[in-house]
Amino acid sequence: MPKTSHADANTPRYIFITGGVVSSLGKGLASASLAALLQARGYGVRLRKLDPYLNVDPGTMSPYQHGEVYVTDDGAETDLDLGHYERFTGVSAHQRDNITTGRIYSNIIEKERRGDYLGATVQVIPHVTNEIKNFVLADAGEGVDFVLCEVGGTVGDIEGLPFFEALRQLGQELGRERVLFLHVTLLPYIAAAGEVKTKPTQHSVKELRSIGIQPDILLCRADRPISEGDISKIARFCNVRESAVIQGLDAPSIYDVPLAYHKEGIDREVLRHFRLEDEPADLSRWEDISQILHNPDGYVNIAVIGKYTVLPDAYKSLSEALVHGGIANNVRVKIKWIESEAFGEGDCGAILKDMHGILVPGGFGERGTEGKIRAARYAREHDMPYFGICLGMQMAVIEASRNLAGLPNAASTEFGATDTPVVGLMTEWIRGNEKQTRTKDTDLGGTMRLGAYPAVLEKGSLVAEMYGCERIEERHRHRYEVNIEYKERLEAVGLKFSGMSPDGILPEIVEIPDHPWFIGVQFHPELKSRPFEPHPLFAGFVAAALKNRLV
Ligand code: GLN
Repeated sequence: MPKTSHADANTPRYIFITGGVVSSLGKGLASASLAALLQARGYGVRLRKLDPYLNVDPGTMSPYQHGEVYVTDDGAETDLDLGHYERFTGVSAHQRDNITTGRIYSNIIEKERRGDYLGATVQVIPHVTNEIKNFVLADAGEGVDFVLCEVGGTVGDIEGLPFFEALRQLGQELGRERVLFLHVTLLPYIAAAGEVKTKPTQHSVKELRSIGIQPDILLCRADRPISEGDISKIARFCNVRESAVIQGLDAPSIYDVPLAYHKEGIDREVLRHFRLEDEPADLSRWEDISQILHNPDGYVNIAVIGKYTVLPDAYKSLSEALVHGGIANNVRVKIKWIESEAFGEGDCGAILKDMHGILVPGGFGERGTEGKIRAARYAREHDMPYFGICLGMQMAVIEASRNLAGLPNAASTEFGATDTPVVGLMTEWIRGNEKQTRTKDTDLGGTMRLGAYPAVLEKGSLVAEMYGCERIEERHRHRYEVNIEYKERLEAVGLKFSGMSPDGILPEIVEIPDHPWFIGVQFHPELKSRPFEPHPLFAGFVAAALKNRLV
């Protein structure tokens, strides 16, 4: 329960997290970890992300460049850091928790065209900065004591300037009692000198101060312990107190980070800044997870056959959900990333040697799909646990259509015209159903089903058993659907449609009852999995893989 007695219910405090020196310092994880620590102290939190790039949202960005697109319940396509926020705090993110420069400008230009500015000259200050301030200050919801806002990129980036300026203004307007600046920097180790260097951190803070922001806490990322001498040097040159120079060492698992940063005193410093009492934190749930992760009882090998395997960030939530499935079963999940195109041409048996389960994740476009279809077939024929997510479900349906139901041309219209569209755009055969789906125009001119939608599970099915209920809600991000017109033919050959949209039109889940564990889902269960509450399907899949390993 949030201790609203400590912080007033209506006036949240704001923590602004910025980064310097280089990108990829784990600012998102640091923000999520600090939020989790404040929760452990009994406070309510909300996390927000400000992204300085010009895309309106990350929905159209390549997973190769930007990592996965994280989808919220209310259908926003957001930055993958929001996934960390949810996993670490259990607080569901919303559309209003992520904003980009592109979105800000598109709002402003719309207003300008409507004449909302009454003829004023529209400028970065105050119009863009006001838009940013409104985003930061937007209602954070009931019981929120702290709003943590992370700014993407690093200080000094041209595109980040309006964001830093807006935060500077907020610091001034709300005062130190309500605002804290946390700056994340890097202390590189220079092998030739045998020393950790503080200069880049000093420069980065100088940069921040030159735009009017004095950080209150520095989180210094380093790959080895920082000496006391260096801590006091940083404190002196950067004008922060020594206890506010926090050492952020690399951790073996991301779930160790809250415990590690707590030990270094990051949450204590935050409370001290806001003059809040330093009461003990309840970190038991983090300790439990850490305990399991460091002392697993065995392992399983999972093959993930996908398209973006060179950049694991493209499947961030998925790999985390597998870790959570491991936590649920007390085992370590080892992932083997397999490029689907290569798999399509290789010797399946050899590539999958020592694997205990196959997962085919979501994806877009035709490239690599024949490999995914082969993977579904291999799993089905070899009684190997199979988990197909979104495109992975569609591939399993195509496979069953071709090889069980006697439909050799079965395909998805996503890959071109076909006379057997077992997967296609819902609007191609369902008229009038658009009403019940939240859609979004895209460059492809199609529609995307985005965000949380309900599904009804068939009594007695494997999925109903896994979930332990008959009605679920899961997040979607796709354009194509399994074609209900093929339901009877597929069910006749053993592929059961065990989860459907409540109106019975859109297949949500397929499974093969006559198989140890074969499930395909049209949604993305990985987005809702959390270390403390592993998603039932991931827990079930890992359990099945473990059983497969032990036979
Ligand atoms: N490309 C498929 C579709 O749009 C699957 C999408 C996905 O896997 N997220 O329906």
